Amino acid sequence: MAINWTDAQIEQVVSAVIKNLGVGGSTVANANGWDSTQYNGRALIGVYADMNDAIDAATAGYKAVRAMTLEEREKIITEIRRLCREEAPIMAKLGVAETKMGRVDHKTAKHVLVADKTPGTSDVVSSVKTGDYGLTLTEMAPFGVVGSITPSTNPSETVICNSIGMIAAGNGVVFNPHPNAIATSNYAVDLVNRACYNVGGPKVLVASVVKPTLDTAQIMYKHPAIRLLVCTGGPGVVRAVLSSGKKAIGAGAGNPPVIVDDTADIRKAGKDIIDGCTFDNNLPCIAEKEVFAFANIADELIDAMIANGAYKINSQQAEALAKVVLTEVKNPKTGITKKTISRDCVGRDAKVLLAKIGINVGDEVRCIICETDFEHEFVQEELMMPILPIVRVNNIDQAIDLAVKAEHGNRHTAHMHSKNIDHLTRFARAVETTIFVKNAPSYAGIGFGGEGHATFTIAGPTGEGLTSARSFTRYRRCVMSDNFRII
Ligand code: NAD
Repeated sequence: MAINWTDAQIEQVVSAVIKNLGVGGSTVANANGWDSTQYNGRALIGVYADMNDAIDAATAGYKAVRAMTLEEREKIITEIRRLCREEAPIMAKLGVAETKMGRVDHKTAKHVLVADKTPGTSDVVSSVKTGDYGLTLTEMAPFGVVGSITPSTNPSETVICNSIGMIAAGNGVVFNPHPNAIATSNYAVDLVNRACYNVGGPKVLVASVVKPTLDTAQIMYKHPAIRLLVCTGGPGVVRAVLSSGKKAIGAGAGNPPVIVDDTADIRKAGKDIIDGCTFDNNLPCIAEKEVFAFANIADELIDAMIANGAYKINSQQAEALAKVVLTEVKNPKTGITKKTISRDCVGRDAKVLLAKIGINVGDEVRCIICETDFEHEFVQEELMMPILPIVRVNNIDQAIDLAVKAEHGNRHTAHMHSKNIDHLTRFARAVETTIFVKNAPSYAGIGFGGEGHATFTIAGPTGEGLTSARSFTRYRRCVMSDNFRII
């Protein structure tokens, strides 16, 4: 039965889950039914104190999935989609309350996107080759138990998106969620397990831990039952997973540049860029992070951005803001001081960031824009805040050269607004990103207002691209010599 959540019910669930889990405490293991309004006094399903127990549970989940027909697997996925749509407002509110990042309305939309556009079992397809020597069948088989590291920026979205794809492929999953998003991520683990049980599956299909840490991640890396590691996060954790010695899929950092040339529809480009850049306050790794605008259209572009909720600051104000959003941090091991983005500023509303430098504006301001040079930290750092630097360029050669450098070789995502197909093709070829969006907001690249499936795990470094069920499979071949060919 569908539930239409009232604001009061959402509040009640959010505060109960945060109270019980957000501080790392465990709840009473009293699974009194599956009513998702009853969080007080009930442990989230599939969440364990010990990573080894979580891995054992995920192994049992894998065995259960293996015994299921594809139709049964798809039934579970359909139910995950239903609960994800229904409880999107709860997870959105929980995510913002716990991480202090992002926007409830956009996080709700992200969950609906995951529910609607993450591929299920239809993504897992077999192929056949026949010829003089008979028939060879290739099937996409599960790895077994997948260990998944998930970020704080799209916590429950990534857990549910990964679960749909990994279960569709026939795997069990154990998560080591981001320590700053435990309650939200584990709520999603609980949701997947509830969905499974609702349609006659086992009680625990995916698992997680009450208090994920780098140590619990290490247990996951080393555990013999884990056959595939999937990591969605920044450069540090992707490096760690790729050095684990196990098969790993790495979905790492980006710093997506946008080029706007003088053939673009400038009004539309201004709106699209602000819409994409401010989606969930710039948390998505695909979101526009810096703009390279032809000098002859830059003023018009800036006007279009201002007409769509941008607030332009001058260079002194940009320097003041840089001091707030980037702080000096000393590495205790090396003693070297490095500028690092302030976690207190990531994913915050534009008005909150402006208030930190004494500028008070209302909710109508959703993005801060400023003109900078190429070397500016706002261009070079992946801020994940609604702050957008604009660099004027003289021609397409300079635009491509600087945009490719700003992307830092992540080969993640880039955007361009242009009607010149030579310019579009040249930039796409030069930047070599996994996602390249033309004449649309960045989120069109993950299926939101664009064609194609959705994912929150975009694996540039290891080459799977926009992951889906088939990314979590291993190819197996079966050969029948001389027979089974019917012609
Ligand atoms: P993060 O890098 O801070 O953390 C990700 C996870 O890794 C967390 O669980 C964290 O505790 C853990 N972790 C960090 N270092 C580790 C290590 N050495 N060993 C084991 N675990 C470790 O990520 P975040 O701040 O939540 O997310 C932001 C980053 O992730 C950005 O760089 C963003 O671009 C990237 N991201 C990429 C994608 C993608 O699909 N490519 C999606 C979302 C986020």
